[in-house]
Amino acid sequence: MFNSLQNQLTQIAELAEALPIEEVITNLSKQFPGKVTFSTSFSFEDQLITHKILSNKIPVSIFTLDTGRLFEETYSVWSATNERYNTKIRAYYPDHTLLEPYVAENGPNSFYESVDQRKACCYVRKVEPLKRALKNNVIWITGLRAEHSANRHDMPQVEWDESNQIIKYHPLLHWTTKEVKDFINQYNIPYNILHDRGFVSIGCAPCTRAIKPGEDFRAGRWWWEDNTKKECGLHVHQQAS
Ligand code: SF4
Repeated sequence: MFNSLQNQLTQIAELAEALPIEEVITNLSKQFPGKVTFSTSFSFEDQLITHKILSNKIPVSIFTLDTGRLFEETYSVWSATNERYNTKIRAYYPDHTLLEPYVAENGPNSFYESVDQRKACCYVRKVEPLKRALKNNVIWITGLRAEHSANRHDMPQVEWDESNQIIKYHPLLHWTTKEVKDFINQYNIPYNILHDRGFVSIGCAPCTRAIKPGEDFRAGRWWWEDNTKKECGLHVHQQAS
């Protein structure tokens, strides 16, 4: 990694350690005007960050990936968020020139057949649209938390994403579930009601289910697969080197 990039990561990481989240994001928006973006899936975590950005009128873009397979409840909280903050969250959709032949060849539910098929579906519906959404940005803010996946415990709060060529900032990485829920309740932020029914990490409807108390958070996603393979390609974790 070039020294200048390493210095930039260190400088942002120091900022993230020292300042409240809204001040870090404000600072980034001034440092990289028009080049800071936040991806939301309308989860508890993402709603918290959306609140901080929009209630403080911080000029960063917010987008979501509409895979075409989301829960009705996700569209409801998206709509409620637009209303609450008087905004229009932008959606990126799968490229129809990729999706149509993919579904024609494999059918609508081929993700249940193998890890490769599932990753192919995630590529068309999420990874490729994400690349378009991130294009021309320098900073990508995410709602990732360490509790959500075993391989996120050693993740730095600020890191370089080689596959998307962008700096990622995870402001809630070390927040607990209770802290996130308390914040949501305190500010009466709209949230996905599936969270009240045992859903933790909410993605596409056919690939997400509720978990039982005490079950691992990732048990609700791609439950038919081996635990170690449960990433969809959106967040490929790499240590800065
Ligand atoms: Fe396809 Fe499931 Fe991935 Fe959604 S989560 S893109 S439906 S494989």
